[in-house]
Amino acid sequence: MDESLGIQIYRRGFGLKGEVLEDLSQDYQSQLVEEIRAKGHRLVVGDLTLLLAKEFGFCYGVERAVDYAYETRKKFPERSICLTTELIHNPRVNNCLREMGIGFLNGPGPNDKRIQDLTPQDVVIIAAFGTRVEEMETLRAKGCILVDATCGSVIQVWKRVEQYAQEGFTAIVHGNDRHEETRATVSRATAFSGGRYLVVWDKKESAKVCDYIRTERGREQFLADFAQKYSSGFDPDRDLQRIGVANQTTMLSSESLEIGQMLKEAMTDRYGPERLSEHFRNFDTICSATQDRQDAIHEMVKGQVDVVIIIGGFNSSNTNHLCEIASQYTAAYHIDEASCILDGERIRHKPAGRSEVIVSEGWLPKGPLTIGVTAGASTPNRVVGDAIERILKAKGH
Ligand code: SF4
Repeated sequence: MDESLGIQIYRRGFGLKGEVLEDLSQDYQSQLVEEIRAKGHRLVVGDLTLLLAKEFGFCYGVERAVDYAYETRKKFPERSICLTTELIHNPRVNNCLREMGIGFLNGPGPNDKRIQDLTPQDVVIIAAFGTRVEEMETLRAKGCILVDATCGSVIQVWKRVEQYAQEGFTAIVHGNDRHEETRATVSRATAFSGGRYLVVWDKKESAKVCDYIRTERGREQFLADFAQKYSSGFDPDRDLQRIGVANQTTMLSSESLEIGQMLKEAMTDRYGPERLSEHFRNFDTICSATQDRQDAIHEMVKGQVDVVIIIGGFNSSNTNHLCEIASQYTAAYHIDEASCILDGERIRHKPAGRSEVIVSEGWLPKGPLTIGVTAGASTPNRVVGDAIERILKAKGH
């Protein structure tokens, strides 16, 4: 526990893992998934071959966050407990926490308490994505007991962005400006006097930044195109002279690398290779769990796979990117829970690169079939197991 300034902040759990293990196992584990894993991630039933990606589901950061939340309930059975926002982007996990009486200050569902109403009696759990500097300061000022479940890989990105700000570099963050993690990350830049940031979503936006770096033309259009995605008072003529690249931990890693390279080339063109180090910094901040899951789906779909099912929250960044990868190879369906598999004909899913959830027909081809299954870093095995059971049933097994 960190007790600086008299605030109780717990960052290492409460040593109650043994006491919550059974609940965690009951809520999130799957016997079927363990069996398939033990058989080399492969299940053959009749004319159906089911492949399970070598890396899928809960990552180390999510496991830790979920564990902390359960331990917190155990440690403070009588206290009001709230999450800053969804603990992770998975509906089952967030519903389980609600059923345990853990409320939400923010997030897509109903909000149970307002931050201004918190008292020192309240316990607040900070989600795995972390929280903005301003919100952290408010929570400290309220004197609540804080349980910090921010993932260590997210904190590494913050350190990088803070370093950029201290050295006078503008942080260019490849990420989603509305995602909690990116909002928390960019707040680290502006926590320093003169700290600046700009968020780019994809290569198209990155190309606009590169164009501006090379030509310094179209200032008004540039500011309009990136409205809400830069720090207050951002001046592209001044703030694109020295830039440092970072990324949301769960982005498509190949795209992050390309964006880093594009920006490097633009800065080289503008300032020459000999002065590049004065103007440009770049660190790949994709987390290893995201990278492992992306590598595993590439590996799985390179073989003979007819259909891929990707399981995870529709607002889960890393799950969306798994679907993007799979859809480059074959038919890919991103579902958030087993009930999305309506029957052998219809499936409710979110297509790659789109925001709406739709129902498609004819998702399950007739005859011998290989189906690949993977899941995002916030998806419990229990949800994966339920989805596999639905697939088997849809195929008549
Ligand atoms: S996806 Fe990566 S950064 Fe996010 S919680 Fe998991 S390990 Fe941490």
